[in-house]
Amino acid sequence: MSLPVAIVGGGISGIACAAALISRDVPVTIFDRGYRVGGRLATQTLRDTGTSWDGRVVDVGASYFTAHNDQFRAVVDLLEEQGVLRQWTDTIHVGDATGIIGPKLGPMRFAAPAGLQSMVQALADQLPDELVTFQHQVDVSDIDVSAGALVIRGEQFGAAALCAPDPQLLTMLDRPVMQPVRELLADSSMWEPVLALITVYNEVCWPEFDGIFVNDDAVITFIANDGSRRGDASPVLVTHSTAPVAAAHLTAPLTAAPVMMAALAEVVKPACMPQWFNVKRWTYARPLTGRSEPFGIAMVANALSVGVAGDSWAGGPRTEAAWVSGSELGRALALLR
Ligand SMILES: Cc1cc2nc3c(=O)[nH]c(=O)nc-3n(C[C@H](O)[C@H](O)[C@H](O)COP(=O)(O)OP(=O)(O)OC[C@H]3O[C@@H](n4cnc5c(N)ncnc54)[C@H](O)[C@@H]3O)c2cc1C
Repeated sequence: MSLPVAIVGGGISGIACAAALISRDVPVTIFDRGYRVGGRLATQTLRDTGTSWDGRVVDVGASYFTAHNDQFRAVVDLLEEQGVLRQWTDTIHVGDATGIIGPKLGPMRFAAPAGLQSMVQALADQLPDELVTFQHQVDVSDIDVSAGALVIRGEQFGAAALCAPDPQLLTMLDRPVMQPVRELLADSSMWEPVLALITVYNEVCWPEFDGIFVNDDAVITFIANDGSRRGDASPVLVTHSTAPVAAAHLTAPLTAAPVMMAALAEVVKPACMPQWFNVKRWTYARPLTGRSEPFGIAMVANALSVGVAGDSWAGGPRTEAAWVSGSELGRALALLR
């Protein structure tokens, strides 16, 4: 039997890549340094908030996603039928430091009743056990070649799909034999950091909105009403910082909370105070630009395919691009075997 394909990264691009390979009967091993799949489609469970909302999950990574690609839309429709996803809203408000300006119609944004991590989890759960091995809480720091195979943490693989932000991938490509893969990432754009401020209140004390794009603000860019997003009407907001604010507070994210809460209050003008807050840091939240190619692929040691995928490909930098990129790379790797 031929060697399995290693997938580094259990975000949506890695899981989409796994699904494409497995649908062609190729076995895979998925490595992720997290304790579960999801990556930047991330949720946190509220604990010790002093409110009745403990135990509830909050989306702390991507706010939502859109689905324009037909194949991705088919996957999304199925997950919606299964109750994993829901159509959240096509109307996001616009606001600035003077307050909420008004609604803006756009494409349908999808969300998940149990948080967006549950979407990646559902896709991972649907992979057949006999063709997939998960290795969680494993940090891949090196990829080598030995005896005609790729070697990751002592295991041999026939090919690899590297599905994570470019800066994270570059840390595992130090060996000279990986030079062709490093070259695929040589044109990498800047990756912006973002801080996500989670605020929990005792009650909803603001005007009705699903989300707010905050214009021309030095501190915040977006406010999500997590209660409307999740569909449980709970009084939880998630506010995203600008990249400069995130960069200035990366080593101590909580120190950004006062300035972010002040900016949030100017836009939403809540009539009550948050009971609890926290700040989640994303050092590599998104690339500034996405390459138009769906993925990159290189041969190492003359015969071993190593591909790179994620939201810096397929037009990026969105969830949908990550799914398309991972799927296309999986298809290509299956054909090359
Ligand atoms: C704050 C924020 C807001 C966003 N808003 C939106 C939005 O509104 N709409 C939208 O469409 N998208 C949004 N996104 C982007 C969206 O989250 C990403 O496009 C998508 O999740 C990328 O998926 P991925 O699989 O390519 O990467 P990731 O989700 O980053 O997955 C990579 C995985 O690789 C793992 N990994 C990394 N390095 C290693 C290593 N050395 N060893 C083992 N495992 C490793 C990580 O643990 C992670 O699970 C947002 C992202 C953030 C952070």
